[in-house]
Amino acid sequence: NNDQQTLLITGGAGFIGSNFIDFFTEKYPKTQVLNIDKLTYAGNLDNLREIEPRKNYHFIQGDIGDEDTVTSIFEEYDISGVINFAAESHVDRSIEDSHAFVESNVLGTLTLLNAAKKDWEEKGELATRRFHQISTDEVYGSLGKEGSFSESTPYNPRNPYSASKASANFFVKSFGHTYGMNVVISSSSNNYGPRQHKEKLIPTIIHHALDGKQIPIYGDGENIRDWLYVMDHCRALDAVYHQGGPLETYNIGGGNERTNKEIASQICSILDEFVPDYRQSSAIMSYKELITFTEDRKGHDRRYSVDDRKIRQELGWEPVVDFASGLWKTVEWYVNEWKKVQTF
Ligand code: NAD
Repeated sequence: NNDQQTLLITGGAGFIGSNFIDFFTEKYPKTQVLNIDKLTYAGNLDNLREIEPRKNYHFIQGDIGDEDTVTSIFEEYDISGVINFAAESHVDRSIEDSHAFVESNVLGTLTLLNAAKKDWEEKGELATRRFHQISTDEVYGSLGKEGSFSESTPYNPRNPYSASKASANFFVKSFGHTYGMNVVISSSSNNYGPRQHKEKLIPTIIHHALDGKQIPIYGDGENIRDWLYVMDHCRALDAVYHQGGPLETYNIGGGNERTNKEIASQICSILDEFVPDYRQSSAIMSYKELITFTEDRKGHDRRYSVDDRKIRQELGWEPVVDFASGLWKTVEWYVNEWKKVQTF
């Protein structure tokens, strides 16, 4: 019975994890959700402020790479499934120093896999309880103008972040093949929505515009990403966790391929309408005048695009938030957060 279960979520104080916990604790009020998060610079308990009072939600501060912590969680609670969001997630940081990426993304995932395997093996539940790994389309590499990544596209990670995520996926799959563990992987495209760390592209564009600072866009701004609204991703994860086949991978896309330049420009148009104050009190006609092109990211992947027909056909999922309204909602959220910290 799904209703009586305890789901272990890792990295739930971050962007996607916190949105997922919000979605999941509401949808499944009888399932206990346990969130383990190390609270790195990227983890923020403010993301869980409204969720904290829910009776089916519990938080534990801890590192998924710490064997004692992870083992004791499996001893103390009867964990019926794991969804592993916890990761170092910023490509630029991985280019500066990739150690933390190996520790959290690779070794952390391995530590979690081992603890789950031990506990579920003892209970005779290895083939039934689920380990769901959250992955990214970046593991497949970079595309030219045409084509898209399918689940059978060979991994070809090209930066340390995606190398660590691909490596974690190999371990997850190996636990399925070697030990018969019930693992599943979902690889999504770029998420956007509320609660994302301000170092990422969309929050950076909004914050810089509101602060009247130049909006930095890498290279020629022509790099293409596919954008997925975070709540559409959460609905997809619900489908994969509950209905996805063992050892399967599911790609999750938003169907919104945009260049970084287009993203910046569309956000500026929304801000021009939504927050005209700054624009009017300064010499500029549009926030777009703040867009500036900077030295390109090293090894910058040109284009990502996922073929997500499998999840659409097999699990009946499709994104429901169209890009224009998703982006509007997103901008609105960051503007409101920004206003809260202004001292006029
Ligand atoms: P995020 O950086 O906002 O959040 C990551 C969270 O994990 C933080 O709360 C952090 O404190 C926690 N964490 C990091 N290392 C930890 C450790 N060792 N132990 C416990 N907690 C730890 O990241 P996000 O954007 O929410 O991404 C979540 C997952 O989704 C990641 O696995 C990422 O690779 C994947 N993903 C993200 C995107 C995207 O567009 N953001 C797209 C595809 C896949």
